[in-house]
Formats: sequence, structure tokens, C-alpha cells
Amino acid sequence: MMARQRRHDIAGVRYDEPMSRHTSWRIGGPADLYFKPRDREELCQFLQELDRDTPILWVGLGSNLLIRDGGFRGAVIATHQALGMLTHDNHGKVYAEAGVACAKVAKNCVRWKYKDAHFFAGIPGTVGGALAMNAGAFGGETWDFVESVETISREGEVRTYVPADFDIAYRHVASPRSEWFVAATFSFEQTEEELASEIKQLLVRRKESQPIGLPSCGSVFRNPEGDYAARLIEASGLKGHAIGGAQVSPKHANFIINTGEATAADVEALIALIRHTVSEKFARDLIPEVRVAGEVG
Ligand SMILES: Cc1cc2nc3c(=O)[nH]c(=O)nc-3n(C[C@H](O)[C@H](O)[C@H](O)COP(=O)(O)OP(=O)(O)OC[C@H]3O[C@@H](n4cnc5c(N)ncnc54)[C@H](O)[C@@H]3O)c2cc1C
Repeated sequence: MMARQRRHDIAGVRYDEPMSRHTSWRIGGPADLYFKPRDREELCQFLQELDRDTPILWVGLGSNLLIRDGGFRGAVIATHQALGMLTHDNHGKVYAEAGVACAKVAKNCVRWKYKDAHFFAGIPGTVGGALAMNAGAFGGETWDFVESVETISREGEVRTYVPADFDIAYRHVASPRSEWFVAATFSFEQTEEELASEIKQLLVRRKESQPIGLPSCGSVFRNPEGDYAARLIEASGLKGHAIGGAQVSPKHANFIINTGEATAADVEALIALIRHTVSEKFARDLIPEVRVAGEVG
């Protein structure tokens, strides 16, 4: 039976939920099912009850996600403000559930005097999304600090893995199993240094160079080896170029902003134009970093 017809008794399940409410681009058609678990038990129950053939999409803060205009035919599992435990052991080990905002990890690590976690302040997503993307900023990358992760399977079974169980690279994480992240244990060095001002300075620098505050997904393309996607896009003359409501940011050419009424089709058309133009002019194939899901509207 398709998710569309099946009703669930679990509180926290919504039907035909507009995904534009849950992505930083503010774009996206409706998800058949949208589920925000209150805890792991409820998450396991939901997974066990879900029809085996219903596609599942995990969403954190939707800050790297383009949901197409036709929406998602399946179940979205939302972790933010759901899987929210954040603790530490006083010796640099930090346990964070998937729905914890990365900025919260950074802020608390400053308070706990743990070094090198400040890069999380630059990632407007969740721990789950950061694990899935190997998100990085200011020279730090998520998996550099992972000691172990907990995942959940489609059957609701929780398992623990170490980084060696995954294929990890720049903005790339692959696992032979189709499981999702529910938590991670990070390991940071302890320090006596004052770190709060460091985060502030990094965020000020970022605000100067990026269109922070406008609906976007951050960098749309990975940087190709030895170059920068933003440089190639700008040199192709596409800075400020728009298709419908989607525009290459005049401030940072690797950002596409929603100027108000952008559709996912506008964004995808602009992505395709950028790839084509950069390939023609520089013979470089830009690989999108953003994840695309759902049906064409
Ligand atoms: C203004 C702005 C600036 C940004 N700057 C940076 C930056 O400096 N560096 C950087 O790396 N990124 C940056 N990003 C992109 C984005 O914040 C990161 O990729 C982030 O890690 C995505 O987290 P999320 O929770 O929003 O994930 P989502 O966008 O919700 O999901 C992204 C992908 O992860 C999957 N996913 C989410 N949760 C889980 C889970 N628990 N288990 C398995 N898969 C999961 C989703 O299915 C999807 O495929 C920026 C985005 C914006 C809007």
C-alpha cells in the first residue's frame, strides 16, 4: 500500500506537508507523510509500521536539500527538535543525537572548553545532515572528529559503527548499508583558551562574503580539484543571472538564492545552465553538492 493511503496512529505524523516549510530554500512540494518522532521509541515504532515499499527521506534542517515541486511520494522523517540529546563526559567526548543543530554543538563546545569544534558554527544544519554530507567549514570537517556513530535500519534496529566502516571524502560519505544516522560521538581536545570570540570573528567574515539571511542552500556545487566553483561560475559571466525566481547570488557565485517565488524547476534549470556553461568555457564538470529529491511538478 502506498504511504498516501495509509493512516498512522502516531501523533507527530502529518499528511501532505508542504516541504517548502522545511527547507532553507523555502522550496518544495508536499510530502505524503511527514513524521517528527518524540523519541527513539516512537521512531522505531513508526519504521516498523511503515510499509516496506514506502520510500523514506530523512531531513534535518533542510539546508542542503532541493525538494522538487511535485513533492515527495513517501515518508519524510524530520529529526530537528526531535532527536535532540547533547551531552559530554568532561574529557572531550561529545554525544549528539542527529537532530541537534550544529551551531548548538559549536556553542556548547566553547562552553565546555573543547577545541576545534568551532567549524560547526558555520553549518546551518543538524548533526545528522553534517554526518550525511561530511559538512565542513573554516578548515574543519565533520568526520575528522567522529569516534563512532549510531544508525537505525528500516526495521528500527540501532547499530554502532566507526569511521572505518564508511567511505569518507570531501562532502562525500557512503556506506554499504541503507541505514540512517541517529547519533554520533565526537572526540575533541580540551583547551584552556577562550574560544567564543573566534566563532564570532568567523561568522562576521562569512557574513561579508556570503548572502546570509536570503533563502539558499549554501554552496550548490562542490569545489573541483584545485579550483573553486564560485570562481568558475563568476568567470563564466553568470553572477547575478536568474531563471524565474532563482538567481546566482551577486555576492557569492556558488550560491543560488530564491528571490521570492522560485520553484525547484527554476533552480534545477539554473543548475543545468551553470554546469553547461562552465563545461563549455573551462572543460570542468561541476558536481552539485545539494541533494535533490521528489517528483517534478
Ligand atoms: C547559508 C548556508 C551556508 C552553508 N554553509 C555550509 C558550509 O560552510 N559547509 C557545508 O558543508 N555546508 C554548508 N551548508 C549546507 C548545509 O548546511 C550542510 O550540508 C548541512 O550539513 C546539512 O544539514 P541538514 O540538517 O540541513 O541536512 P538536510 O539538508 O536536511 O539533508 C541533507 C542530506 O542529508 C540527509 N540526512 C539528513 N539527516 C540525516 C540523517 N539523520 N541520517 C542520514 N541522512 C540524513 C538528507 O536525506 C539529505 O540527503 C550551508 C547551507 C546554507 C543554507
